[in-house]
Amino acid sequence: MIIAERKPLNEILGMLSGVRKLLVLGCRGCVAVCSAGGDKEVGLMAAAIRLGRKLSGEPIEIHEDTLVRQCDPEYLEPLAEKGGDYDAVLSLACGVGINFIADRCPGVRVLPGVNTSFYGANLSSGEWKEMCAGCGACVLHLTGGLCPVARCAKSLSNGPCGGSQGGRCEIDPSVPCIWQQIHDRLKALNQEERLREIMPVRDWTTAGHGGPRRRLREDLLP
Ligand code: SF4
Ligand code: SF4
Repeated sequence: MIIAERKPLNEILGMLSGVRKLLVLGCRGCVAVCSAGGDKEVGLMAAAIRLGRKLSGEPIEIHEDTLVRQCDPEYLEPLAEKGGDYDAVLSLACGVGINFIADRCPGVRVLPGVNTSFYGANLSSGEWKEMCAGCGACVLHLTGGLCPVARCAKSLSNGPCGGSQGGRCEIDPSVPCIWQQIHDRLKALNQEERLREIMPVRDWTTAGHGGPRRRLREDLLP
């Protein structure tokens, strides 16, 4: 899922300067699961802003709502109609939702309430870890299911690099070297021979380096 975290309150209060009527808008998708932008966080955010504005002596009217998903047009329609009633909408969705509102609701001033961080897995309560970078050309069948793009600090296709020491990454020794783990895993799976095959230079256009990506499924188009 997409992992996000709430922006610092001071940053949010700064971007709300001059805003008198605000909608704090959550999303029940990934940001709700990672406790950054669901119903509960909308309530906490609204309360914190009210308090901040009370302390600074600047009144603000705040409404609260949470959509099923902010990245889906069917849920955005009511906002497109009513969004103009507000000076701004503070979205607690990931960056996709915020962009989508800005694209589809031209009359709405939309502000980010969270920092969108990465695609991650939930390791335990309150702990998430990046596992995929959405590169668009998955190689996990060659690497024992462990991602060298997201989990190697240098995104090496053929590792480890010369800095790998004792199974730790040279960039951050608190992190395991994923290429050491790929070696260990392929060995355990009796697939060590795979490591003799040199992966060719990657075409990074599939990872977004060639501009924004788009996908069409002809069979699903209206
Ligand atoms: S190789 Fe690409 S698609 Fe596959 S897990 Fe890694 S970043 Fe994601
Ligand atoms: S030490 Fe391992 S994980 Fe770190 S940059 Fe080198 S190959 Fe990648």
